[in-house]
Formats: sequence, structure tokens, C-alpha cells
Amino acid sequence: ADNATVAAKRTVPVGVDPTRASIARVYDAFLNGKDNYEVDREVLRQVQKAAPEAVDLATENRGFLIRACRFLAAQTGIDQYLDCGSGLPTAENVHQVVQRINPQAGVVYVDNDPVVLAHGRALLEENESTHLVSADIFAPREVLGHGEVRARIDFSRPLVFLQMGTLHHYNGPREQPARIMREYIDALPSGSYVAISHFFDPQNEYSPVARKMEEMFVHSMMGSGTFRTRAELEELFDGLEMVDPGLTLCADWWPDGPRIKPLNQVQRCIAGGIGRKP
Ligand code: SAM
Repeated sequence: ADNATVAAKRTVPVGVDPTRASIARVYDAFLNGKDNYEVDREVLRQVQKAAPEAVDLATENRGFLIRACRFLAAQTGIDQYLDCGSGLPTAENVHQVVQRINPQAGVVYVDNDPVVLAHGRALLEENESTHLVSADIFAPREVLGHGEVRARIDFSRPLVFLQMGTLHHYNGPREQPARIMREYIDALPSGSYVAISHFFDPQNEYSPVARKMEEMFVHSMMGSGTFRTRAELEELFDGLEMVDPGLTLCADWWPDGPRIKPLNQVQRCIAGGIGRKP
């Protein structure tokens, strides 16, 4: 191969299509990361046309993820985490947040994006207690039956199960994410905790900004992003006892400090919560 071909092969990992946007790379672009292509940044610009503060969807989501993991590690004593849709390595990853509090905690990341799998093998599998598995998170049986998941997670003891910023990317029947969650929750041992965050329509199908962002996401090169109502999001937690303050805006889930300026319209379009399986 000539030098140019070698260089091209080096910059684009095997299995990656730089002409199509990917969920993980678009999210990385929203978080101002480096692991994204022009086609991913174009999705960001499209959604910014619907709402200039669009990046707040990702920053509020990630802030919730970090605070939730900190809480779970510090207060539940659980030492095993199954993180569906890990995303690209970023500033503070789940294993870093929980292992800072409990160095014994183990994390199994699951993703199916080739760039996440390539970068994640290098950066997420930082120590013996962190592992990255390639599987379809919308197929619970595939995840729960995966050899590496069974080997690393002890399903006879409580675990933390994360679906952060993932279920709104399911493209199919509107009720399916609730069914997917029911299957996961059924398989969890009693005393396990489940954390979910999701695009949110704060006005029960009447939020103009949620509808505009959804249209941009769905018609973009990425092709997914469903904003659900409070009632729809509550169904995802079916069978769980909600931890205070229940399902809420990510921005309002135990924020780090008092609020001195009002939430903008985008911060009102991402919600989450934590539930405990009785
Ligand atoms: N959980 C992280 C967070 O909240 O910061 C990352 C969220 S990112 C928006 C969603 C991740 O889910 C991406 O890394 C994407 O590759 C992954 N993902 C989407 N659909 C998936 C599927 N069917 N199977 C496995 N991973 C998937």
C-alpha cells in the first residue's frame, strides 16, 4: 500500500464509516470532544438550528450520570456496574467515578459502536476491574447472556444497571423501550439499582422545542432521538421504588449547588432518575 492508503487506514478504524454520523460520535461532538467527524458535527449544527443551547442535552445528561454514579458508589455499597451504551471515553468515565469511592468496584461497559470499541479497549479497560463488551443493548437476552457479562457480574448479588442517554435512540415501536427495560429489570437481583436518563418532552407532546429537536435528530444523518413524556418515562422504571426525588430533570437531580439562573428550554428536555428493585 502507498503511504496515503496507510495513513488513511490508520486514521479511520476498521468498521467505521466516516460518511455516516454515529450516535457515540455525535454525543462526543455535543460534549466538545475530539473523537468525531465532520458528518457528526453537522448533526450538532442542525439541532442547534432548532435550539441554540442544544449541547445542554449532553452536558446535563453527563452531569446527571456522574452525580448518580457518585451517589450509587457512596451510598449503596454495590460494587458491580453494568453500563449499557458507555459512549466514547470522556473526562470522567463511570469506572473512574465509582472506583474513586470504592477501588474494588467492577464495571462492565456495553456498546456496539466500532469507534467506542476501539478507543474503549485502550481507555475504558484501564484496570482489571473494567471491561468492555460488544453487544446490542436493545436485545436484553444478548447482553444478559453474554459470556463476559456472566463472567464479570454476579447475578446473585445486587448490581447497578445504567441506561444513560440510550433508550431514546431505539428506532422501532414506541412502547418497545419499556418492554426492553422490563426484561432487564426482571433479570436483576433484588436490591439492585437502575439509573436511566432520556430525552424528555416537558409538555406532554406539546413542547415546540422538544418536537423541533426530535425532527432534526430523526431526519439527520444519525437518524434517531425520541422525546418521551413523563408518563412514558415512568413506564421505563416499572417495578422499581424510586429514589428521592424520583423522575426529574437531569439538572434538578441533586445538583451540585444552588441555582442562580433559570433553566433554559433545552435543560428542560432531558430527564432521569434512579430506582431500586425491591
Ligand atoms: N451513557 C453515556 C452517557 O450517558 O454519557 C453515553 C451516551 S451516548 C448518547 C449513547 C451510546 O449508546 C453510544 O455510545 C452508542 O454507541 C450506544 N448505543 C446506541 N445504540 C446501541 C445499541 N443498539 N447497542 C449498543 N450500544 C448502543
